Formats: sequence, C-alpha cells, structure tokens
Amino acid sequence: MFSAKLKPHGGIRPYSHKSLTRDIAIRPLSTPRQLIIPLRQHTGPAAVPVVSVGETLCAGQQVAEARERMSAPVHCALAGVVTGVSFGDHGMITVRVLAEQSLAPRLTAPVEFDTSQAMLSLIEQAGIVGMGGAMFPAADKIRMSLRYPIETLIVNGGECEPYLTTDDRLMREQGEFIIGGIRYLQTITRARQVFIGIEDNKTEAIARLDQLCRQEPDIEVVILPSLYPIGSAKQMIEAVTGRQIPQNRRSTEMGVLVQNVGTCIAIFHAVRFGQPVTHRVITVSGRAIEQPGNLLVPIGTPIKEIISQCGGLKSQPARIVLGGPMMGRAVEDLDTPINKGTSGLLLLTDDELPQTRPSACLRCGRCIDACPMSLAPLAMFAELKNDGFAKAQRQGLDACLLCGSCAYVCPAALPLTQFFDWGQQQLSLIKRQEDKLSRTRENSARRQERLAFEAAEKAAAQAAKPARRQRRATPPSEDTPC
Ligand code: SF4
Ligand code: SF4
Repeated sequence: MFSAKLKPHGGIRPYSHKSLTRDIAIRPLSTPRQLIIPLRQHTGPAAVPVVSVGETLCAGQQVAEARERMSAPVHCALAGVVTGVSFGDHGMITVRVLAEQSLAPRLTAPVEFDTSQAMLSLIEQAGIVGMGGAMFPAADKIRMSLRYPIETLIVNGGECEPYLTTDDRLMREQGEFIIGGIRYLQTITRARQVFIGIEDNKTEAIARLDQLCRQEPDIEVVILPSLYPIGSAKQMIEAVTGRQIPQNRRSTEMGVLVQNVGTCIAIFHAVRFGQPVTHRVITVSGRAIEQPGNLLVPIGTPIKEIISQCGGLKSQPARIVLGGPMMGRAVEDLDTPINKGTSGLLLLTDDELPQTRPSACLRCGRCIDACPMSLAPLAMFAELKNDGFAKAQRQGLDACLLCGSCAYVCPAALPLTQFFDWGQQQLSLIKRQEDKLSRTRENSARRQERLAFEAAEKAAAQAAKPARRQRRATPPSEDTPC
C-alpha cells in the first residue's frame, strides 16, 4: 500500500454528504411489479429486441442483441411477460414481473475459459459496460486495449462524486470478487502490475482491500486524496502512476487500462459463472428520501418503485438526479428506469441545491484553477456564447470531461457545464453533417467516374462497329489461304 505519487492538477473538494449512506450495507430491493428495460444502456447504437409482446421470459434471459460495435446485449433481470417492445435509441422492453420467479438461465461457461478469447466472449455476451457511469462496452474497451502492450491495470475505486457510496460498499463487502475480476483481466491483457486506487476518505475499503492484497504480491492499494474528479481515468492515472496522458491520447496507448470496481465484479461473475448484467448496486440518498441506503436493484426498475421501497418521500424533492450531483442527469418522470450505468438516485431538497443567480463573469480565474484538464473554461464559455464552436474546439472543448468543477467554483454562477455539454453535442452534430456531406461528395464523384467510363466504353464500341461490319462484308478471295 502506498500514497498517490502526486496530486493531479485542478479539482475541487465539494461537501461529500456520504455519511448519509456510507455505513449502510447493500440490501436487495424486493421484486418490483414492472421492468422498463432500455435498449441503449451503452455508448454505441441501441441493441435490437429479440423478444415479442406476450412472450414469457426467464430471469436472466437475453431480450435484445448487439448488432454493431460499441453496442451491448440486454438481459431481463426477472421472470415475467413482455408487455411492450419499441425499437431505436429510445426503445425499451416493458415486462410485467411474475410473482413466482423461475431460475435465471445461466450461460454456459466454456470448459477452457482460461483462454483470453473465451473470456472476452463471455464478457461480451454478459452485456458488461463501464459500471461507473461511462457505459463503454467492457469487451470493446478491452479489445481496443489489446492493440497496445498493457503494462498496468488500474482498478478505479475513486468514487469522488458527493453522496455516492456504492463502490465504497462494494469494496468493503465484495473485495474477493474484485480480486477475481482483476485476475481475469490480467489473464486477458497480461498486465504486469495492478493498482487499486481508493480515496483516503474510504478507510474501511482501504483496510479490506489491503488485507486481501497481502496474498497478492502484484496488486497494490494506492491511497488517493479525496478530490473531485479523481475518479476520472486521466486524473486517476496521474495520481497513481505520476504519468500524464496527453489530451489527444488514450490511456491504453500509454499501456494503462482503467476499470471500475463494479465492472471488475461484473467481469468476475460473467467469466466464472456465465452471469449476465441484470442487477446493479445504487445509492439512494438526499434529504428528501425517508430511508437512504445502498440497494441491489434489477436493471429496468422504475425509480418510483425504489422510492416506495425506501419508505417514500419525507418532503417534495426539488430535484431528482440519476447518478451523482456533479455529472448526473436530472429527471422528472418517476417511470424512468435504472440502467447499467446508474450509480445513484438522489432526491434533493431545495437547500441541497446550489443557489444560482447568474451574473457577468468576474474574470477571477477560479474556473481555470479548478479545471482538471487544464482548460480555460471562461474563454470557451465566451466563444460558445457567440456560437464559436470551432474556436471553442481549438481551446480544448473536446477534452472537457463535463465534470462541473468550474461551475462549482464560479462566483458568478455561470452555467459553464451546460454550455460545454451543448457545445460538445453541436460539435458532434457538425462532424456527423460533415461526414455525411463528404460521403455524398465521394459517391457523386464515383458516379461521375462510372458514367464517364461507361460513355467512353460505348464510344469505343461504336467506333469498332463499322470496321467489324466491313470485315464481315468482304468475301474471301481466291488467294485466301485455307
Ligand atoms: S470562475 Fe466564473 S467568474 Fe471567475 S473567471 Fe471563471 S467564469 Fe468568470
Ligand atoms: S467541466 Fe470541463 S472545463 Fe469545467 S472543469 Fe470540468 S473539464 Fe474543465
């Protein structure tokens, strides 16, 4: 065990609010009556449904398959009957859960599961995505990492978002599964050294994993400063190894693979038991909920069901957030389901929210000091206000993590993160349009080439015709040799 090599650049120390749930053990949610299973719970295109309305499902059955790269299959957590199927990015499968639960069909783990390809295939079939919230398909991430020699595997136990304590509880309660997942990842990537990065405010998790690692000489626990966003991959790598990953490079290119603790556990269950991702642990917190805690929840459970199983509301929440308060998503519809990347459900009262009355920029520079990516948020904000997407991009908008550190420290309460989020969406829209335009231009050029070729061919054929006709019309002379 050792402490971080250096404090990464920037970052903030928001009030953690973790005491609300950190000492509450994970408990399973009672069976919900309905599941609403989204088809897009990963970064790539939506999965395609393979079940139809009226079909009876077993627990763990695959309900949608991945047909493209960066997509991931989707499974149903509980036995039930399909009541609705819709397709596309916002598509979902709704299931009426049966009171009597049949056993989950297990995917059969191959006998020779010690080969990397077999392990990767199990990880893929299980539909594992980054459980820390990134939702990048794990099999794709590992495959991409295999293009480079991976020296170091970092297991991310940072969990720096306020309120959230799921990873803390997983490290305290399921440390041996994390080690199991690490061993499979090491077999696949051949990483020589493994570090488990944990913030110094999780003393029990540090003690538990350090105890487990005493029998594992190549795995070390690294104590990190409690600093937001130390859980983001680049900050984690910087703190653990002392190496900075340049803005335009991936960590795997530098020989480092980072996986979240929850993802390691999912990998362990997928490879060892052939278990798909059907449940996840979430933190339910905030002052508006009666009984905060950490719950094991079937994926697809609507948030109203979770609220009711947590004793209901103490007061009307001013905001409901899926994920953490810094990078999470505010929702209003209580039928919104939990997906594979949901780490928390926060029911926040008015006094837990920042009081925002935006004023003009004071040019204080606090946002620059807070930015973990060494960007100049005030300059990017000024460009985006005038639709200067290209200029904002040159200033590093692509590299922005949308971590919200700049907005958190801004005394003028400017909506910096919302602007950067919107700016990144506009840039990707512009790129898609440019790609489409260049594909259209290429197709049109190819068509012109084909037409020109066909015309030349036709002209050559026309030119050859009279000569052929003349040859045929000329009778053979007596001198023609037989
Ligand atoms: S922190 Fe806010 S007020 Fe200060 S320079 Fe940045 S944008 Fe302007
Ligand atoms: S939201 Fe972007 S610009 Fe603001 S601190 Fe985070 S990385 Fe920097």
